[in-house]
Amino acid sequence: MGSKPPVRKNQEIQLHIEGLSHEGEGVGRFDGFTLFVPGSVPGDTVSARVISLQKTYARALLMEIIRPSTHRVIPECASHHECGGCQLQHLAYPEQLRQKQIIVKETLLRIGGLDIPVLPVLGMPEPWRYRNKAQVPFGSEGGAIKAGFFARRSHTIVDLDRCPIQHPANDRAVAAVRFALATTGLPVYNEADHSGLLRYVLARTSLATGETLVVLVTNGRNLPRKETLVEIIRSRLANVAGIVQNINNRRGNAILGPEEITLYGRPYITEQLGDLSFRISARSFFQVNTIQTKVLYDKVAEYAALTGRETVFDLYCGTGTISLYLSRRAHRVVGVESIPEAIADAKENARINQIFNAEFHAGRAEETLPALCRKGYRADVVVADPPRKGCDPTVLKAITNMQPDRIIYVSCNPATLARDLKSLTQNGYITTSVQPVDMFPHTSHVETVVLMSRVDK
Ligand code: SAH
Repeated sequence: MGSKPPVRKNQEIQLHIEGLSHEGEGVGRFDGFTLFVPGSVPGDTVSARVISLQKTYARALLMEIIRPSTHRVIPECASHHECGGCQLQHLAYPEQLRQKQIIVKETLLRIGGLDIPVLPVLGMPEPWRYRNKAQVPFGSEGGAIKAGFFARRSHTIVDLDRCPIQHPANDRAVAAVRFALATTGLPVYNEADHSGLLRYVLARTSLATGETLVVLVTNGRNLPRKETLVEIIRSRLANVAGIVQNINNRRGNAILGPEEITLYGRPYITEQLGDLSFRISARSFFQVNTIQTKVLYDKVAEYAALTGRETVFDLYCGTGTISLYLSRRAHRVVGVESIPEAIADAKENARINQIFNAEFHAGRAEETLPALCRKGYRADVVVADPPRKGCDPTVLKAITNMQPDRIIYVSCNPATLARDLKSLTQNGYITTSVQPVDMFPHTSHVETVVLMSRVDK
């Protein structure tokens, strides 16, 4: 450290790619110096040109693959290189899983100082067509309708009619709307001057029932030829639960607006996880990979090891799915979540499933957890599933003050997980198991479930 980097800007070098960054870029070393090479995979020998240079690392442009890795595969999707959705389709699935395990292991060591075993990632037997939700922008170019995805780092819409990680019914829903627009001549949205009508199509499909909810996001309330639109979509898509118009008049990147009109059927689908049913509307939060959600929650349940006598806290509970999943095996579950609409959904989900030992509190964990503690709440098991930035120190402190027997940390970001585990480790807990679960095959996302136990003094 402190010495001069062994490479200069614009220099073209040859290097062997050894690992993956958390963003899915190949990582190699040149004279011990770290280089990130987007588009390369572990096992490649490449030629790359240095394009930006920092003190401890550089980024380089892939110029040539001199010797390809044996883990390289041809991407399933023709748009793989333009689309920002998947980062790892050019890497064989078993190797994706192996690399994700290494990322968790190395991040826990580097950031958390924790040299502990990480279990092999629980992957999908069939890692395609797993997304239950599609959000597809619509636009036009030279009079032709375009629907697909925004090109990497831009708002240019690239046409795509088949996404290999998307549930086929969601692809069909988008195709049906595309056809309906072409037939009715309804205008698509133009972002540049905020004109036109159809902005996005959102489709959500239930694995349990096979039904699909189709949401048409419009710029403006007036939707001409509604009946024809509904008729065409229904004739081209089996099992439509409902068709909803969502009005979003605002400029900007938010997909959904505040107002909704049900054009046909009902404004939600019903999904099943184990023996529980969940209502999912346009806006509800629900994990996008239904099959792996069950794998994840089963792991949480296994780590919770409930006997029926415990009070369980579910922090960052979203629509209460983990709370309800554990409720039948617990004495009582307490969910905390900052978005009031999600808490309303959680209460509704409890009602639908006739679960009476679950309570839900709307509020930030930072304030709500200490407030509940002051009221005398105690926890035997705490589950925390925070967003990418992890838990605030006040939340970690409140958790350890409650002295639960077990803490189960569900994380979508190994870096903040490592930071938070370090803190919990310094406050009376020991990490017992680290189990990554692949919630998003072919993307660089890494999800991890960690079990911590209290160290008895
Ligand atoms: N456990 C849920 C959802 C986890 S996503 C599931 O499996 O479906 C993380 C959740 O944390 C989101 O619902 C988000 O709204 C919520 N959240 C973000 N910051 C929060 C905070 N400070 N306090 C409480 N909840 C928060």
